[in-house]
Amino acid sequence: MKHKQSKLIRTRADRTSEKEHSSPLFLTSSFTFDNAEDMRAAFADENDDNIYSRFSNPTVQEFVDRLCVLENAEAGFATASGMSAVFGSFMALLKKGDHLLSCNSIFGSTHTVVSKYLPKYGIDYSYVGASASAAEWEAAITPQTKMIYLETPTNPGVDVVDIAMLSTIAKKHKIILNVDNCFATPIGQTPIDLGADLVVHSATKWIDGQGRVLGGAIVGRKDLIHEIYLFCRSTGPSLSPFNAWILSKSLETLEVRMERHCSNALYLAEKLEGHQKINFVKYPFLPSHPHYAIAKKQMSNGGGIVCFELKDGIKAGQQFLNSLKMLSLTANLGDAKSIASHPASTTHAKLSEAERSAVSITPGLIRISVGLEHREDILADILQALEA
Ligand SMILES: *Cc1c(COP(=O)(O)O)cnc(C)c1O
Repeated sequence: MKHKQSKLIRTRADRTSEKEHSSPLFLTSSFTFDNAEDMRAAFADENDDNIYSRFSNPTVQEFVDRLCVLENAEAGFATASGMSAVFGSFMALLKKGDHLLSCNSIFGSTHTVVSKYLPKYGIDYSYVGASASAAEWEAAITPQTKMIYLETPTNPGVDVVDIAMLSTIAKKHKIILNVDNCFATPIGQTPIDLGADLVVHSATKWIDGQGRVLGGAIVGRKDLIHEIYLFCRSTGPSLSPFNAWILSKSLETLEVRMERHCSNALYLAEKLEGHQKINFVKYPFLPSHPHYAIAKKQMSNGGGIVCFELKDGIKAGQQFLNSLKMLSLTANLGDAKSIASHPASTTHAKLSEAERSAVSITPGLIRISVGLEHREDILADILQALEA
């Protein structure tokens, strides 16, 4: 098979004696052995036999194998949520005295892990802005820096960070480059092809795509994934086989879903740009985006998130949400249903205005996760809420 999409569809757990067409769900905590010798060999790591679903499970492995196809990754490990993937990738590879260099524009809970919990274990960190130059990134590296961490496009400000630029710096200093690819998905960009060592995912978002289950994954270099596997199999953030079964099916349709999410998003961004109630629209594939050139270089589509800034700030943001008739108000993104959120009054309300503006969150910023409804209905709901 020449194409990734075919390889993905045809990658599956071994067929059982029932010859089922759709992969079965191996909802089991443990696996049996025919005799004591086989059991001894499995525990001695002399073969790949499944022992216990905290370590491995065929349904979970199918999800991992499919994600590895999409990300062009050597190996992977699936976790119960995106946050356990992020946390596992830090804890397995960093130790006391190490330094993590991170982009400052990162998911809220990731920021909590980096700034509150890592220091508790003696792991130091510093932040660099999403628009920083190569020289600014390089100046922040210390002899203790073991990992560079970033998300692109960022949440919720959809800033775009140059992965290839960071990979050049990371390789020069022998640092691990770890990229959260949740927003773009492997359909929009493949960080490993741009030089990343690891990719983390919240599968809860676009990969599930229908707001049903939590899940996460870490894929990338085999030696690093092995360390992560050893850490996770002992500490227990493993993905449930039930959720893995759902997420593995979801991957089959990720490409076609993302095509529609992204074309709806681009349509919306173009139609809203220049609206009299809006200061600016931010979407990676709009030429007015500050990082348009980087986005065009590393992404094959602009993603499913559109942001815009209302002229009248924080009050206008809440009023806008109250006026929506179809779009959902919910703490998720990457769903078939379009979702609106107002970060300044919700997810990022605890930050000061200065802290918010440092990560591109202005008072009137609205984030739209563009769904699969007809694009005219999505646009119409937003336009009537802008008028209200
Ligand atoms: C949601 C999200 C996470 C965390 O994932 P969960 O599955 O909610 O634990 C991490 N990174 C990004 C960019 C996210 O949007």
